[in-house]
Amino acid sequence: MRKKYICGNWKMNKTSSEALEFAKEINDFDFDRVDILIAPSFVTLESLRKNLKDEIKVAGQNVSEFEDGAFTGEVSTSMLKDIGVKDVIIGHSERREKFSESDEIINAKVKKALADDLSVILCLGESLEIKEEGKEIDFVRDELLNSLDGVDDLENLTIAYEPIWAIGTGKTCSSEDAENMCREIRNVIDEKYGEISQQIRILYGGSVKPSNAGEILSKENIDGVLVGGASLKASDFIEIIKAGENL
Ligand code: PEP
Repeated sequence: MRKKYICGNWKMNKTSSEALEFAKEINDFDFDRVDILIAPSFVTLESLRKNLKDEIKVAGQNVSEFEDGAFTGEVSTSMLKDIGVKDVIIGHSERREKFSESDEIINAKVKKALADDLSVILCLGESLEIKEEGKEIDFVRDELLNSLDGVDDLENLTIAYEPIWAIGTGKTCSSEDAENMCREIRNVIDEKYGEISQQIRILYGGSVKPSNAGEILSKENIDGVLVGGASLKASDFIEIIKAGENL
């Protein structure tokens, strides 16, 4: 059975001191039925990792596709690994839209991260325009296959389906629509990769909060959530974790 996975993406929020306050609150909370991950800013990663209890993982929100060299402002896989980070989010829609990361760039990042033994959370999701045209299934399928082009082993991969129109907007995709898309994603993985489709975790992200987490997490093909806004307040994030624990 796939263990539920509760992930927080802090985006460009929280200084290191604020992150430590959060760590103190969440460290007091005991859980054992879900996996938990938090992706803070790069500058906070090392101190957060040292101050969070070991059961909670930390992840980069992005990583370079290059090994090293003249790439001002970028962070490499070895830099993450050197400070004990083992996970990274790749292809978040804000990276795709605001920093022009194409499927090709995302694919290069996924391959680099997996080759360097990082676990990857690969984000996919359609815009409102595509949804309104009724083309979301084809779009997400293409995004998935393009992002995984040339990737043979999915053991260290998690997928996050995050419809762009539901991110930070307060509009949640209905749990039925989220479940349908996550099932489609699993079917595409099954067609291309076979049995691993039953083990890979597929998360939903987009305005998840304490009030809707339980329903979303109860769906058969939704193995966890990627949470932005509601992961910033420890008490809200703990409520979401509890929703996963209490299933
Ligand atoms: C996200 O940033 O991945 C996200 C889902 O944000 P929010 O929960 O705020 O919609």
